Amino acid sequence: MIRKTRLYTPGPTPLLPAAQFAMAAADIHHRTPEFRALYQKVLAQLKVFVGTRNDVLLLACSGTGAMEASVSNLTSPGDRVLVLTAGKFGERWVSLVKAFGCEADVVSAPYGETFDVDEVQKALKPEHKALYMQATETSTTVRHDVEAVARLLHAMAPDTLLVVDGITGLGTTHLDVDGWGIDILIGGSQKAVMIPPGLAYLSVSERAWAAMEKSTNPRFYFDLRKERKNAVKGESAYTPAVALVAGLGAALDYIAAQAGGDLENGRIALIDNAEVNAAAARAGLQALGFTLFAPTAPAAAATAVAVPEGMNSGEVVKALKSRFALVTANGQGEMQGKIFRVAHLGFFDYLDTVALIGAMEHIAKDTLGLKVEYGQGVAAAQRVYAKAASSQELEASR
Ligand SMILES: *Cc1c(COP(=O)(O)O)cnc(C)c1O
Repeated sequence: MIRKTRLYTPGPTPLLPAAQFAMAAADIHHRTPEFRALYQKVLAQLKVFVGTRNDVLLLACSGTGAMEASVSNLTSPGDRVLVLTAGKFGERWVSLVKAFGCEADVVSAPYGETFDVDEVQKALKPEHKALYMQATETSTTVRHDVEAVARLLHAMAPDTLLVVDGITGLGTTHLDVDGWGIDILIGGSQKAVMIPPGLAYLSVSERAWAAMEKSTNPRFYFDLRKERKNAVKGESAYTPAVALVAGLGAALDYIAAQAGGDLENGRIALIDNAEVNAAAARAGLQALGFTLFAPTAPAAAATAVAVPEGMNSGEVVKALKSRFALVTANGQGEMQGKIFRVAHLGFFDYLDTVALIGAMEHIAKDTLGLKVEYGQGVAAAQRVYAKAASSQELEASR
């Protein structure tokens, strides 16, 4: 039988066909009026997509490059910073700030959980140069309460910069950059914006620009001040990822088209889409007897699923791939073998979720030997969708 390859990984995510066409046609030089017009259009769209009046910059690198830039540009060796970590990406912040000579205070939450805000409050000191956190921790699929942390920070440590890795948070959860005072918010191309890996984008506040003038850590390729100067002229400091920029423009057009051409509402529709798909997937998987790895604060970006005791999640990942060409992600680090992860961010629709749960019914039965009736998981997912669809229709008719 034909098996279509389907990505359900939380980055890279499925590609938008319109973006693929735009990338294939992007045979243009970057120091031309054509590219400058494209670059300026995409930067303006990104500001709306991120939802900020701050500058938004694009970098030719994966998400981690922008994470590094937000450490090297804001800090000096010996600075005290606070890192909130609840998984592999939080741990990446810890390694990064240490690599740049910062003294890291760390608040951690167990894998699968989010932070206790009281503990953050206890750890936060006004002398912290910056606080680094994720909006959603993709390794465990937990959603963090960025708003609560932001409120705490502005009350207790008003000079501390707030840096948020929104690489899977953007397009899957509401983030009010200007209202909450997020100084740097980072996104990546291979997540909710439906294009291949290779671009990172970040919003930068005036406070962050001011801090950069005083910070002394070394930076060259990732010197954000240089990018900002060039961006004003519609250029990047070095050769940009031209095709990805073209693809990103097409993807942002598509997201806007979800709300009649209004990108801000399109972003909200994209978040709602991820929320409904995530809720349907959670219901379907639980109806099959699986346990959610992050039940208390689940992200809409992706869902981590624990396999029953004594079973290996790698078997599920392997079986989904070999039987259905369906690509999922194993757990990272210590979580490998214990969980598998499926994504909902970006170009996923409801029928993708139904297909996933349908495939999982076969795997649960044949690979894991669980007692499952065909349709048991799918029906649970369908009920979630039906309820969401009827309330959306109700809203639209008002
Ligand atoms: C994907 C991801 C990253 C970035 O990883 P890259 O491989 O550098 O793109 C960082 N943080 C989170 C939360 C992610 O999901």
